[in-house]
Amino acid sequence: MTLTLNYCYRIYPDAHQEKTMLGWLETCRRLYNRCLREVKDWYNSKKCSLDRCSIKQEYIIPVNQPFPGYYNQQNALPKLKKEDPYLKAAQSQILQTTVRRLHEAIDFFRQRGYGFPRYKKYGSMRSMLFPQFKSNPITGWQIQIPKIGKMPINLHRPIPEGFVVKQVRVLTKAGKWYAVVCIQSDIDIPQRMPWGHAKGIDLGLESFLTTSDREYIARPKFFQELQRKLELLQRKLSRKQKRSRNRDKARLKVARIHAKIYHTRKNFHYQTAHKICKDSGMIFVEDLNLVAMNRGMLRKHTLDAAAWCAFQLEFDSSWVASAFGAFLNILENVCFKKGVYFAKVDARGTSQTCPACGTHTGKKELGERLHKCETCGYETHRDHAAAEVVRSRGIAALGLRDKENACEEEAAGTGSNISLAGTRSSRKAKSRGLSAPSKR
Ligand SMILES: [Zn+2]
Repeated sequence: MTLTLNYCYRIYPDAHQEKTMLGWLETCRRLYNRCLREVKDWYNSKKCSLDRCSIKQEYIIPVNQPFPGYYNQQNALPKLKKEDPYLKAAQSQILQTTVRRLHEAIDFFRQRGYGFPRYKKYGSMRSMLFPQFKSNPITGWQIQIPKIGKMPINLHRPIPEGFVVKQVRVLTKAGKWYAVVCIQSDIDIPQRMPWGHAKGIDLGLESFLTTSDREYIARPKFFQELQRKLELLQRKLSRKQKRSRNRDKARLKVARIHAKIYHTRKNFHYQTAHKICKDSGMIFVEDLNLVAMNRGMLRKHTLDAAAWCAFQLEFDSSWVASAFGAFLNILENVCFKKGVYFAKVDARGTSQTCPACGTHTGKKELGERLHKCETCGYETHRDHAAAEVVRSRGIAALGLRDKENACEEEAAGTGSNISLAGTRSSRKAKSRGLSAPSKR
């Protein structure tokens, strides 16, 4: 098994290097659009039947011409270079990876059924991938980029021993340059085994997350402030004359705010993930696929407009449906690093089940903040109840018994339902300030 990691560092090209790299990005963009054009033409030519003329569009592409796939287009690159000298200036491997990038996007479209790649506007190609290195490009405080040369790199985190640099993606964001270094190692890392204290997590729009241990992590305030700033700057930008220098300046300001939001969000996610991992051995979360997101999660909460904007900023604003996914990926990585077992459980109806007795309690109204079971009388915060359900589902999926309450279970001498009831009574006892039952 190989372990692959991506480390991101700031790099500092000089003015000449920056100009070259910007030129290459533009070359990549033009190549990308050109290849996309070819693919689109091919698709369009197949839309019309062979034996008649189309009213809308017609493309003169021979019927037996193969689909312009990755290999076809990559092999056509040398020929293209002869036709278009602008391609020659760029390093050849980044051109190949640009073509590959397009075809990865097309494959992704085929899997999902939507999101066909679009033409890239001027300046919207922001990264290029250098796929191969003969020797380690990072020497001390410098990084060697093919055909460009050495430039300073801020190695704020050393590359761990036993790792080899495989690829480097150079990208620019809000006027700054970064290198995402992909490192690989053959170290064998054992799978994380379930052990220790188990936690269930419920993600929400109102409070960021709730664990089954009654930890409530609130939605941070600074996203709303950043949102206001962003709105103001975007309004200013919209009033600037097109292609003017002032517009460029305003655009950079907006880009900087976006970058700041990105970094703040990432930082918050990592800090939260570490906080949760700190004293647990197993973590269970809801498996939020797209369907569950749209139907369940977003509908079970209501938010005013300002909070909604802040929420979008806090997660990835581009695609709200995968919003929680961004945090869950980070949480999974942190768990892996800390040796904590991480698993996803079925998300259906977590907010409609009583964690104490397992009965279906029916839909809760949006404003209803309390879980109150009519069967067993269990009362708690609704997010906490959902988190407890996630936790017990995770434990059940592992085929484990709830160890924390094993003694009670043995005393009662029956199945898993009792163990969950045990969870409840011990929690209740704790929350009332009574002494918790003794553990074995
Ligand atoms: Zn109940």
